[in-house]
Amino acid sequence: MRVFLSLGGNLGNTQEIFEQSYPAIEKKVGKILQKSSLYRTAAWGLKDQADFINQVMLLESALNPHEILTEIQAIEKQFGRERLVTWGPRTLDLDILFIENLKIQNEKLQIPHPHIHNRKFILIPMHEIAKEFEHPELKKTISELMLEATDDFSVNLIPNP
Ligand code: ATP
Ligand code: CA
Ligand code: CA
Repeated sequence: MRVFLSLGGNLGNTQEIFEQSYPAIEKKVGKILQKSSLYRTAAWGLKDQADFINQVMLLESALNPHEILTEIQAIEKQFGRERLVTWGPRTLDLDILFIENLKIQNEKLQIPHPHIHNRKFILIPMHEIAKEFEHPELKKTISELMLEATDDFSVNLIPNP
């Protein structure tokens, strides 16, 4: 199944951690078909902390949704993620944004990820790789959601070296 995954981090050398996570993601979750650029973004939710780096990728995975969650949580742990403060600093945060047009609502897993439409740090990188993708609940494309998003946190493209 086609899976959109978001990567985020603001502790340690995030670009290096992302680079190291790609082979782990390919080994445990599935083939990476597309990756957005990296973006430097102002912290959302809990503001008094370092900027984040964010990226969105498209994967082809043979796992079921709960298996994907288990695997991404193991990868987060491998890179030193500790859950200390809600929305606080972290070395690597992997969120499942969408799995095709599935809708899942249980306490461990919500698909689509519930905050996509009000997070420009997700919409902007996702727009780069899949602007025509339609949100299965909101029935709007990523382009449309971007026009409507009102959050005003900065999201800046990090140029390729
Ligand atoms: P947010 O979800 O608002 O971005 P967060 O990423 O900081 O916040 P975490 O502490 O990483 O939140 O995750 C809390 C829990 O969210 C996880 O233990 C997981 O069970 C649950 N969860 C629900 N839906 C998803 C999803 N689509 N992707 C990843 N985790 C999810
Ligand atoms: Ca998150
Ligand atoms: Ca998360």
